[in-house]
Amino acid sequence: MQAGEESQAVEEAPPETTKPRPKRRGKVTVFDNWCKGCGLCVAFCPRKVFELGPEGHPVVVHEERCTACNWCVYHCPDFAIVVELVEDGEQERKTGQAVGGRVRR
Ligand code: SF4
Ligand code: SF4
Repeated sequence: MQAGEESQAVEEAPPETTKPRPKRRGKVTVFDNWCKGCGLCVAFCPRKVFELGPEGHPVVVHEERCTACNWCVYHCPDFAIVVELVEDGEQERKTGQAVGGRVRR
C-alpha cells in the first residue's frame, strides 16, 4: 500500500457501514434439568435478566432487558440456556417450549 491509500480507503467506506445497528433483544430459555445451579448467569448477565429462584436455578425475570449478547449461552457450563434472537419489530417466535422462561424436561 502506498502513502495516502489508507486514508482514502477510510473515506470511501461503503454507506451501509454507517447505518445504525438494529436493536436486538433475546428470548431466553433456561433448561432446568440441565442446570447445575452454579449461578454464573445470574451473577454476570450484563443486563441482570436473571434472578436465582427458590430451587437454585435461574429465573428469567427481565427478558425485556436481554440484548441477545449470548454471554450466558457461551459461559453456561451445562449448555442449559438458549437465547433466540428477536430483531426489532419481529414477533417473538412461539416455540411451545418456553413457558415463563423456564423449561423442565
Ligand atoms: S444473552 Fe446476554 S443479556 Fe441476554 S440473558 Fe444472556 S447474558 Fe443476559
Ligand atoms: S450458568 Fe448454566 S448451570 Fe450455571 S446457573 Fe446459569 S443456567 Fe445454571
